[in-house]
Amino acid sequence: MLNQSNNGQAGGPESAPREVPLLDPSLQYESLKEPLHEAIRGVLESGVYIMGPAVAGFEEAVADYCGVKHAIGVANGTDALLLTLDALGVGPGDEVITTPFTFFATAEVVSRLGATPVFVDIEPDTYNIDAALLEQAITARTKAILPVHLFGQPADMGAIMAIAERHGLFVVEDACQAIGSRYRGRAAGSIGTAGCFSFFPTKNLGGSGDGGLIVTNDDELAQRIRVLRVHGSNPKYYHAVVGYNSRLDALQAAMLAVKLPHLDAWNAARRERALAYHETLWDLPIQLPAEADDRYPVYHLYIIQTDRRDELLRYLAERGIASGVYYPVPLHLQRVYEPLGYGIGSLPVAERAALGTMALPLYPEMSDEQQECVIMAVRQFFAERG
Ligand SMILES: *Cc1c(COP(=O)(O)O)cnc(C)c1O
Repeated sequence: MLNQSNNGQAGGPESAPREVPLLDPSLQYESLKEPLHEAIRGVLESGVYIMGPAVAGFEEAVADYCGVKHAIGVANGTDALLLTLDALGVGPGDEVITTPFTFFATAEVVSRLGATPVFVDIEPDTYNIDAALLEQAITARTKAILPVHLFGQPADMGAIMAIAERHGLFVVEDACQAIGSRYRGRAAGSIGTAGCFSFFPTKNLGGSGDGGLIVTNDDELAQRIRVLRVHGSNPKYYHAVVGYNSRLDALQAAMLAVKLPHLDAWNAARRERALAYHETLWDLPIQLPAEADDRYPVYHLYIIQTDRRDELLRYLAERGIASGVYYPVPLHLQRVYEPLGYGIGSLPVAERAALGTMALPLYPEMSDEQQECVIMAVRQFFAERG
């Protein structure tokens, strides 16, 4: 999915002194090698490989970190969304309002439950669901709103929560890209009915494999999700509902518990890199990421928008600089959703973003030299090609 290596055929040695990856998760491992090995050894020696103290300990740490009552580890971020919506009773005949500009999993889980995703266009500056367009999408079938804090930028939760309360709807935050970000001081994921995180290796808190987690203050919802993740059994071998096999792996939990205390520093490092891009690229004809006073974005990706996107992608690749497109096709125009009847032009802001946005390299361990290399190349592109 993410191009971590680079094409080897960079320009001449003078134009490409070194290669810059889009991100490099192995550097985090290098910096925490000893404690990670210790954590793995601890789990292996304990003989408890499914659930147990490693999972419970990590869940407690995340609940504390987010300031919520419950955290429930699951197999991945997609399952976090799936089990949450299932536990809220979302099913056939229901509609869930979400954004078309996100990773496919956000809408996939709605469809998987037999419900229908309803796509609402995004804000041009944050790329998040436009709360001003929400209310007109609500019908008698609407059960929940599923905002995404895309690229680590919190959605407009104040407006979204007010609308949800007015219409008696659940709000499930897809915070898979936004762990550690804040909206008016509150942790992303902790504001709605529930919040969902992913520990996919490239996320801001990344495991060494798949992992996910749900946070909520709702006791009953937490209990239902806990039952769902173990085949719907409560107690063991007694089933009142059909569930899933979706647990956070003990080895992943132990390693994530080592990493969590470093998350704020890593996010701060991402923000410093973002600021450096902002200060050196603001005068170019590109749209830089928005930063509102009441939000603390954590730059899962550093996204710029330009009508020369494809040219710039090629130019950087030729110079050994990785970049990426997130996401090339908005969900309402995916083939699988053709039957929903959205056509080209129906959600124009998302469609423009899909054509014009791209990610520049940004990760906590990135060196000054690497970032300088990216900045020079982007500036040179616009200097040469107007
Ligand atoms: C990564 C991601 C997911 C899914 O997480 P997985 O752990 O890969 O299943 C869902 N939504 C968004 C916005 C994501 O970025």
